Amino acid sequence: MLAIYHQTGQPRFLTFCIRERSLRSWNLGIVIGRRELMGGDASAYLSKCVAQLELHGLEPQKGLLSQSRRVCRFLTAGDGMCISGAAGQQEVWTNDQDGRGGLDETCATVYQTRLFDRMLQAEGGPVYGDLLERTIYNALFAAQSPDGRRLRYYVPMEGNREYFSRDTYCCPCNYRRRISELPAMIYYQSKTGLVVNLYTPSEATINLAGDVSLAVRQDTDYPSSGHVVLRLDPSRPVQFSLQLRIPRWSRNVAASVNGQPLRGSIVPGMFLTIQREWKAGDQVTLDMPMSWRLVLGRKRQSGRAAVMRGPLVFCLNPAQEESLRNRDGADLGYIVLDPTSLADSPGGEVVRPGGKACRVKAGRGGTGVEFCSGLTLRLTTPGSLPEKHR
Ligand SMILES: [Zn+2]
Repeated sequence: MLAIYHQTGQPRFLTFCIRERSLRSWNLGIVIGRRELMGGDASAYLSKCVAQLELHGLEPQKGLLSQSRRVCRFLTAGDGMCISGAAGQQEVWTNDQDGRGGLDETCATVYQTRLFDRMLQAEGGPVYGDLLERTIYNALFAAQSPDGRRLRYYVPMEGNREYFSRDTYCCPCNYRRRISELPAMIYYQSKTGLVVNLYTPSEATINLAGDVSLAVRQDTDYPSSGHVVLRLDPSRPVQFSLQLRIPRWSRNVAASVNGQPLRGSIVPGMFLTIQREWKAGDQVTLDMPMSWRLVLGRKRQSGRAAVMRGPLVFCLNPAQEESLRNRDGADLGYIVLDPTSLADSPGGEVVRPGGKACRVKAGRGGTGVEFCSGLTLRLTTPGSLPEKHR
């Protein structure tokens, strides 16, 4: 109904949402596990958030943010989201960090990315951009088969890949629709200028105040590296602020305008704002060094660590290592990684040109289980695991 209102401008469609559907008064609590039919359904919850945030975009009202803020707190501080950005088990909310089985219905992932996009627009916090890219790269893209043809219902962090046997309603349609929408999440227009949220090769034309047309072009191999070059071509010299999202994982970020390094500190987890008069041909370079890092797990992931680089979570395919072939996630949790040995490994280009892989040395488990001593493991990104393998 909101979409029809957008298209037609006829107030009755908006009135229907507000009066007949009581859109303003929705205020669901988080229900853990299945309760009374669809009570705890994650994608239903998130789709209601998105509808309220759409209405907020038309007629801002603080109460319209309550339910969305609640679920964002749950997903982050409340452990509702796993390291891959995946949330929910068997379609309903969970907060135990279980990475197996029915983790992460793709429909819920789709609505989760819409939630982060809308919250970024409503509240402006760069954390929503961080959450958005984490979820896109590691949960959304991991729903697709490496050949691009088939899609998954659930996207667990452990276990075999299982795909829908055919194209059908539910996740396959939502996935494809969402992929077509992703380009709209790269650039945003703010009251004072332009916001760059996602780093990816792209071009856009934005109409600024005073009949100024701004062409922007981004060249980068992100997330293989954090080197980004932006070229700005306004139709005439114009003052506006350029905001660049500096991810919270980044350290020692450097930026320059037309080759002149920017002075002052660049703070991770914030926007870097450059306010100046821009003219055609101006070039901004951003360098976000990416190093391998470990993130400790909680709850059911206690005692484990995720290997990450930039926004990407790296994965172990036990089928590549004979001694690990029949080990499940609990067994693999006994492996001890040598954090000083994390390094680039050739051959990460299975799906994406220039893709990275990680090499890490691993030793025997601290509990005396010795099946994995003297190992060198190769970790790849979620989209690059061979089919039918873990
Ligand atoms: Zn679905």
